[in-house]
Amino acid sequence: MEIQTHLPSLVRVLGQVAIIVYAYSLVTRTIERGILKSVAVGLLFGLGGILSMSDPIRFMPGVIQDGRSILLVLTPIYGGIVGTVVAAFMMAIFRYLVGGLGAVSGVAGILIVATAGYVLTLLPRQLTGTGWRRSALFGLATTTSLVVLVFLPWSVARELLISAALPVTIVNILGVMLLSDLLEKESYRIGIQRALENEATLDPLTQLPNRRVLQREGDRCSKEAGMRRVPFSIIMLDIDHFKKINDNWGHTFGDTVLARVADVIRRTVRKTDIAARYGGEEIVVLLPNTDMRAAGIVAEKIRNDIEATVLMFGQETVHVTASIGIACSFEPSTDFKYVLEAADKALYRAKAGGRNRVELAETA
Ligand code: GH3
Ligand code: MG
Ligand code: MG
Repeated sequence: MEIQTHLPSLVRVLGQVAIIVYAYSLVTRTIERGILKSVAVGLLFGLGGILSMSDPIRFMPGVIQDGRSILLVLTPIYGGIVGTVVAAFMMAIFRYLVGGLGAVSGVAGILIVATAGYVLTLLPRQLTGTGWRRSALFGLATTTSLVVLVFLPWSVARELLISAALPVTIVNILGVMLLSDLLEKESYRIGIQRALENEATLDPLTQLPNRRVLQREGDRCSKEAGMRRVPFSIIMLDIDHFKKINDNWGHTFGDTVLARVADVIRRTVRKTDIAARYGGEEIVVLLPNTDMRAAGIVAEKIRNDIEATVLMFGQETVHVTASIGIACSFEPSTDFKYVLEAADKALYRAKAGGRNRVELAETA
């Protein structure tokens, strides 16, 4: 093939690769995991395949190359079985609708390459290797589609095998290596970014958001409450005699107690509430669009659930209780800071009043 005439085609393919990588990055950042992500990746790779089939590279009359196999063989790695089925189905339907002499062999080729890619993901890593070796192997797996030549008359198949098999295979292998390298780097980058974000926002012991997140969300919540003229509430909780727990059973057990209390709270609050680790053994829950009465019910449930929690230290049972102060923004324009202070004062009264109890703030 003459490089001058085919250069624009190759540039087009590179453009398609860039779009795929960019879209994959978007999908991965938006949907972390699960079946929804598999479906999204399947749709994306399927669309990429269709795009590629509509814009093939022509090596010579009758011999064309497109990126469908490159995308399809990699789909199982990023989209799993569900994504692979989605992508293969989309490409097969499209190929069938395009019709022509090669319609049946085209559809068969799509199914074979998808299966080959999926089988490769099932093989142990010791066998398939890593890095370039692995992606070259996936590239090589696209040649399984050559099996479809049996559908064609022998003279045509022989001609295609001689003239096209080698360039098509080389382009496929290089394409798979390039695309998987880019996708791999992108996944790694997103993984690092996510880990850093978690580190900056989540408390490692309780897996609750930290004080910084609470401050940010609290300010946002009070602003919104002021605008919509709705109340918000704050529950401030402090574990009772936590020092004694540490002293009696050790700091590690104290950590376990703290994590369990965090679990109890996480289970009790709504998805829209934010429970954050405020200090050592203090947890604050921010309840948007919630008045004092509703917050009181939540707080009482939390207090009760913590009291009912039984922890084991060897054969010994350990009980834990917590004191809670609640405050609500009586004025819609009340600042988060003032509501927090009011909750803190109420908590102090709960401690002074004998602990294991809920106290309401007078005003905020
Ligand atoms: P009160 O009922 O008045 O709240 O008594 P208290 O003993 O819980 O109160 P105080 O605030 O004096 O003690 C809190 C203790 O919590 C002190 C500190 O060693 C412990 N603590 C703070 N953070 C952690 C932690 O992450 N893990 C463990 N194990 N202990 C912690
Ligand atoms: Mg305490
Ligand atoms: Mg404390």
